[in-house]
Amino acid sequence: MIVEASAATIGLALAPPAPRIRDLLTITARPEIVSLAGGLPDPDLIPRTRIREAGAEALARPDAVQYTETAGWFGLREVIAARESAAGSRSVDPREVVVTHGSQQALSLLAQVLLDPGATVVVEEPAYTGALQVFRLAEARILTVPLDADGMRTDRLEELLDAGERPALVHTVSNFHNPGSATMSAARRRHLAALADTYGFWVIEDDPYGEIWFDAAPPAPVADHSDRVIRLSSASKILAPALRVGWLRAPRPVCAAVELVKQGADLCGSTLTQRIAAVMLSDGPWLAGHLERIRGAYGARAAAVAGAFGDRVSATVIGGGMFCWLEFRDGTDTAALLEAALDHGVAFVPGSAFAVGGDHRATARLCFTTNDESALAEAVDRLAAAHASADRR
Ligand code: PMP
Repeated sequence: MIVEASAATIGLALAPPAPRIRDLLTITARPEIVSLAGGLPDPDLIPRTRIREAGAEALARPDAVQYTETAGWFGLREVIAARESAAGSRSVDPREVVVTHGSQQALSLLAQVLLDPGATVVVEEPAYTGALQVFRLAEARILTVPLDADGMRTDRLEELLDAGERPALVHTVSNFHNPGSATMSAARRRHLAALADTYGFWVIEDDPYGEIWFDAAPPAPVADHSDRVIRLSSASKILAPALRVGWLRAPRPVCAAVELVKQGADLCGSTLTQRIAAVMLSDGPWLAGHLERIRGAYGARAAAVAGAFGDRVSATVIGGGMFCWLEFRDGTDTAALLEAALDHGVAFVPGSAFAVGGDHRATARLCFTTNDESALAEAVDRLAAAHASADRR
């Protein structure tokens, strides 16, 4: 259990970790290692004071410690619906929102509602391992389409459809991908939505990172373009993972089915943390300032790693989020590089951890959120030295 709990902190737990990744979790706890292997928000940017104030405000009402609606406390669903409406071109009704225990629970409930065993699911490769785990548990047949700098290769999805594949579901991390860093272009969003309408599959637009943009906000959500898109988001990366407040936005029949399954899973989420999230998400001026702080800090950290590796790697441009995705041009096996990197005091996650069937031997995910710029510069130097020493081996 200890291994699983710590694996969760780097977003890998939900797939059984390979032995080396499991070792990595123990090794990165050592103070001499600069770890870029994590997947956590910076603890110093989690607004504990504001959470305490919001908690006091929420607790002034006796119903803050009572059960609440299975679909989520209506006051929070109103706040989320207003924010979803503002983020896109469609007006969202609170009854089109279900609050979940993190967006991870939304993935799990949707799999129960939408997938029969053996159903085909398409994911991007490299893949978000938490989604993979859910789809594997649902006994889905998993197909992949590659990701490039403009996000999911929807042309490759269309090829699968042309070849007769009929997925029940397509999962995409549309903004600042985990692990791939890429953001789907506006044209591909329209293409994906049009394919969903034509072929009748559901799209899960899994978007926990969309508000953490550095220079420019991402294009309008995929859900703007089709009713077959279910949007997921979360308070984890902008407020605190420990609130365990995530949500899905979907057509009402889907919400009703999810509600039924959720009732069996947990009766309802935490009324208290939902009320805390509602206080914080509805405080516009505070939230704007807070998001600005996160964007500024992470943007500076992303700049400290982006381009720092020179010609040795091709790195996806980091427009936001928490991750840098590298591909070594010389084909370096990053699982082997990790050995040398740990000897030099730096850790990262080899790309093979996010592979489904493809070859990701020369790729790596670096998380830049929990180290400051000088620690990141040191990490880059150590990684470069490790790369040079691995060359000589
Ligand atoms: N989707 C993606 C793409 C993620 O990276 C994560 C967090 N690692 C989640 C969903 C789940 O986050 P949470 O349950 O904390 O909302």
